[in-house]
Amino acid sequence: MTPPRGEHIETWDLVIVGAGPAGAATALGALAHAPGLRVLLLDRADFPRDKCCGDGIAPHVLDVLRSVGVHDVTDGWTPLGRLELSRHEQRVTGRLARPVWVIPREVFDARLVERAVAAGAVLRRHRVSDVSWVGPRVVLDDRIEARVLVGADGAHSIVRSSLTSAGGGRRALAIRGYSPTPDSRRGRQIIRYGDRRQPSYAWAFDRGDGLTNVGYGEFVDDHRSPGGEAPTRAILLGELDRLLPGSVEDGVGWRAHHLPLSGWRWRQPDGPVLLTGDAAGLVNPMTGEGIYYAVATGVLAGRSAARALAAGSPAAAGAAHRGAVRRLLGRHLKHTWVASRLTRRPAVVDAGIRAAGRSQHVFDSLVEIGLGDGRITPRLTAGLASGLVAGLTIHPPQPDLR
Ligand SMILES: Cc1cc2nc3c(=O)[nH]c(=O)nc-3n(C[C@H](O)[C@H](O)[C@H](O)COP(=O)(O)OP(=O)(O)OC[C@H]3O[C@@H](n4cnc5c(N)ncnc54)[C@H](O)[C@@H]3O)c2cc1C
Repeated sequence: MTPPRGEHIETWDLVIVGAGPAGAATALGALAHAPGLRVLLLDRADFPRDKCCGDGIAPHVLDVLRSVGVHDVTDGWTPLGRLELSRHEQRVTGRLARPVWVIPREVFDARLVERAVAAGAVLRRHRVSDVSWVGPRVVLDDRIEARVLVGADGAHSIVRSSLTSAGGGRRALAIRGYSPTPDSRRGRQIIRYGDRRQPSYAWAFDRGDGLTNVGYGEFVDDHRSPGGEAPTRAILLGELDRLLPGSVEDGVGWRAHHLPLSGWRWRQPDGPVLLTGDAAGLVNPMTGEGIYYAVATGVLAGRSAARALAAGSPAAAGAAHRGAVRRLLGRHLKHTWVASRLTRRPAVVDAGIRAAGRSQHVFDSLVEIGLGDGRITPRLTAGLASGLVAGLTIHPPQPDLR
């Protein structure tokens, strides 16, 4: 154990590494619970900053933000009410039970940070490069002591690496860019499943301002799944253009990034160091959605931290956070793990699309699992089974739910 070399160590109640959605939500959750808390929000970047993402904001994100007093993050942006899912000739276009939003992360994340600062957090530009333990104390870069530390520092989290028991899971790699929205893709989110490492897919999410967020992603670390060589930038862009012709040529702002996918069981060690969002390995393995998990686990981490600090036992925060996240997401994560295993088989993806075309309930249930915290219900299972059977017997016309 190395003692800190710095002469002056500043102490904060709560230090959050990373000011993306998970970090800002942590600050909001803590300060909504205990407005007087001393909260330091660190990020290596200045805001506004870009983040490689599909920019899809599920309605569940807004529910969580409302619970901590944030009501206006979508102001000025257009809601989308339709979702199209397809694989080869199977296709369904359905009306979403609740609209989604497509807001560039440069805008969305900066708004959340602004709200966190307005609530009382201190934002500082700082790249954390060392997390050490000095007895029971957690010290960053020899100079910042955290009574409770929250890792919200994304897919390559340094805080997560400092916790040997946090483990690591499966990953996907995805690329995104922005291209002009053609009339045919206006007002909707489009997902087209691919043929490489399943369930790979390309997307086109209309932002509503003349530009569409386009991208493609697939698993990277599962050697058992078919699909050939590891994805390169050229392969990712090639697949995107094959699945959504014309997306690449006029696209700008191409960036690729890893997605740490959630597994069967979510782990959070005991102690005063908590993990949230991508740093906690929480990205939906079916859809690549992570913003809902980031804000939901952020708010929970903030609350658990504030309660543990108020009780004078910061080391109890880890167990409290683990319990809170498992209560909210535990069963859902198991169900998405099962669903992601099943959808490696193209026949299951086809059956899902077919069943969603026949039943609004199946369509809504799949959306809930992919965007929020839905589960595989008996009714959904029956719908998927009938979709599988239908695939063996008939080829219905392409459905279009109203
Ligand atoms: C191509 C792609 C498309 C996606 N599309 C969607 C989508 O449409 N909808 C959806 O819900 N999710 C999507 N996701 C997932 C989503 O982007 C993440 O789940 C989400 O950003 C997680 O938020 P976070 O706050 O945990 O991490 P991040 O948003 O990654 O924020 C982490 C922050 O930590 C900072 N940081 C990192 N290291 C340090 C350090 N050492 N010191 C200080 N600061 C540090 C970074 O600068 C960053 O600001 C997509 C991901 C990818 C890659």
